[in-house]
Amino acid sequence: MRLQPLLTSSAVIDLGVVLQDLVELCQSPLVLGAPEVGRATLAVSHATAVLSRATTGEEADAEDIQEQVREALARSREAVAAARHCVERSRAARDLALDLTATSIRLRQPRSPITDVPPLLRAWTTRRYATVACPACQRPCVVHYEYRFMEGLAARDLQCPHGACEGRLTYYIPVNASGVSVIVGR
Ligand SMILES: [Zn+2]
Repeated sequence: MRLQPLLTSSAVIDLGVVLQDLVELCQSPLVLGAPEVGRATLAVSHATAVLSRATTGEEADAEDIQEQVREALARSREAVAAARHCVERSRAARDLALDLTATSIRLRQPRSPITDVPPLLRAWTTRRYATVACPACQRPCVVHYEYRFMEGLAARDLQCPHGACEGRLTYYIPVNASGVSVIVGR
């Protein structure tokens, strides 16, 4: 019984650290069904049982129980380290899968002038559809255009899109607008 209290108190601290590691691992959804985590849980339970027997002081051979505590703790640490390694591998695999999914979604998107614009600029691109009546035939026309920065407005002279109508529309749109078109409205 001479050295036992000192050894078991450090073993309790060691077990507390191992147990804390195991609790942290078990908070990750990636551990579900991982056999390494099950093995680590069993090893830590075994170490707890051995340590509990050692601290009750009822064991006949104190030196033997201290050795068992050390061994159970060493196995717990190894098992928790293996479980942590397994969780880190799962996390890396999941991150890779997410990356691949994002890349494949990007690759499936059709390339067009608007998707070739850097994302930050694309976010600022504004599309407008404005319905106006042709001054000549009175039928509805839709003026479509895009712009990124409003640098001022200027009158545009546009052709009426309706069949034989020779009418001209005057419409104010941003000076730096692109993709300007007029289509038949409803
Ligand atoms: Zn017209």
